[in-house]
Amino acid sequence: MAEASRARTWLRRGLIAAPIALLAVLALTLGITLASPSRQLEAATTPALSLDMDGAAARLGEAVRLETISPEDPADFDPEPFLAFHALLERSYPKTHAALERQVIADYSLRYRWEGARPELPPVVLLAHMDVVPIAEPEAWTRPPFSGERVDEAGEAAVWGRGTMDDKGNLLAIFEAAEVLVAQGFVPERTIYLCFGHDEEVGGTGAQAIAASLVEDGVTNAALVYDEGTGVLQGLFPGLPERGMAMVALAEKGNIVVELRVEGEGGHGSTPPDQTAIGVLAAAIAKVEANPFPARLEGPFLHTFEYAGPEMDWPLRLVATNLWLFRPVLQAVLLGKPRTAAFVRTTTAVTVIEGGVKANVLPPRATARINHRVMIGETPEGVVDYLEAVIDDPRVEVEHTAGHGPSGVSPHEGQAFDIVARALRAVHPDVVVAPTLNVAGSDARYYEEVSEVIYRFSAFRLEDHDVARYHGVDERLRVSDYETMIQFYGHLIQASWD
Ligand SMILES: [Zn+2]
Repeated sequence: MAEASRARTWLRRGLIAAPIALLAVLALTLGITLASPSRQLEAATTPALSLDMDGAAARLGEAVRLETISPEDPADFDPEPFLAFHALLERSYPKTHAALERQVIADYSLRYRWEGARPELPPVVLLAHMDVVPIAEPEAWTRPPFSGERVDEAGEAAVWGRGTMDDKGNLLAIFEAAEVLVAQGFVPERTIYLCFGHDEEVGGTGAQAIAASLVEDGVTNAALVYDEGTGVLQGLFPGLPERGMAMVALAEKGNIVVELRVEGEGGHGSTPPDQTAIGVLAAAIAKVEANPFPARLEGPFLHTFEYAGPEMDWPLRLVATNLWLFRPVLQAVLLGKPRTAAFVRTTTAVTVIEGGVKANVLPPRATARINHRVMIGETPEGVVDYLEAVIDDPRVEVEHTAGHGPSGVSPHEGQAFDIVARALRAVHPDVVVAPTLNVAGSDARYYEEVSEVIYRFSAFRLEDHDVARYHGVDERLRVSDYETMIQFYGHLIQASWD
């Protein structure tokens, strides 16, 4: 009897306490949301450049026509287009070439030094790369991939061709801005280095050599290193309907290849064991795919929500500004789409499989290669350990055969971040600027000895249908976006630092 009455008392108390607790949590989250100020800065007030966009688009087109391809097989490398590209830069930007000191590094990479009025201050380093990926399906393109043609369609002009987005657009935008500023007699406050690698798409030996040359010249404390990244994204997150996100990457994931190897017995197909090398390998691959790496919403991508949260619509604003409570919910939502899942976990893509020689012969060996994009805070060795544990089969050898771990992480606040954010706000007034993680790679990772402050972003709009153009078919850059990029570099170069 006493038991039952005690239980009733507890139940009664619970019925009263639960709604009170819920209300308290709701009030607390609401209070936090209302107290979360916008972290968006005022636009830079440095003057916009007066540009000749017809000329600029024509010069970009010319650059696209030079087929500066980084081939899969280094033996297929053709130096001619690279030398022609150097000459084109000199011809197109004579004033910049007269004012800046130029050095050829690693045969085809370029480094320029634009001396500042106060050369004793830590310099600024702007990066881009001149090489492009090969064309896998030329027949799938609407226009020839190296046409460099300017096309006006549906009221929108664009320069077409491989390299417009990745990365000749950025490279020439830097020159367009510099040429106008040099012509005006402008001298930057800090020395600016322009560094252009020639083989970003196949490992970046050029960037490595340029970075080493900077370190050798004592440049180990640059105020900012700035490289390509994603563009202004629309609709990646719900809750930011019209405005778009400029997500400036503080870090990039690692990119490694892991090989799984199984040695078989060989022999005739008439007397097979229960499982051949191919069967063992297949079972291992199935386990790997069934056990994705654990998700972790932290680091640079967590900062994305600190900046985006206060700008979001209700009720998502409540979620994004209260990650102390909602982080697991948000993490689950992000894991729902491959594009957002890539931000919170080491990804796994089984990309190559080989094995077997003949239908009536037992396979002497079977191998598979997996491409992992490695999360910040993890290592290639950790990935191998995880795979070994998941596969749990001594017949399967697991080896990290190529690639590198994740980069370091640059600060998500401070003067350099503010300067970049203000320059972006000047060219995209409505956009929400937020720090983030880059899920793809760039040359920037080689500059960690040059600076602790490395940011990655490309100042063009990147709509959903544009994403597949990267390394894909129908790459092209809107002239309006190209103008935005040039103006962005104009603000960045003219920025005055404390
Ligand atoms: Zn690139």
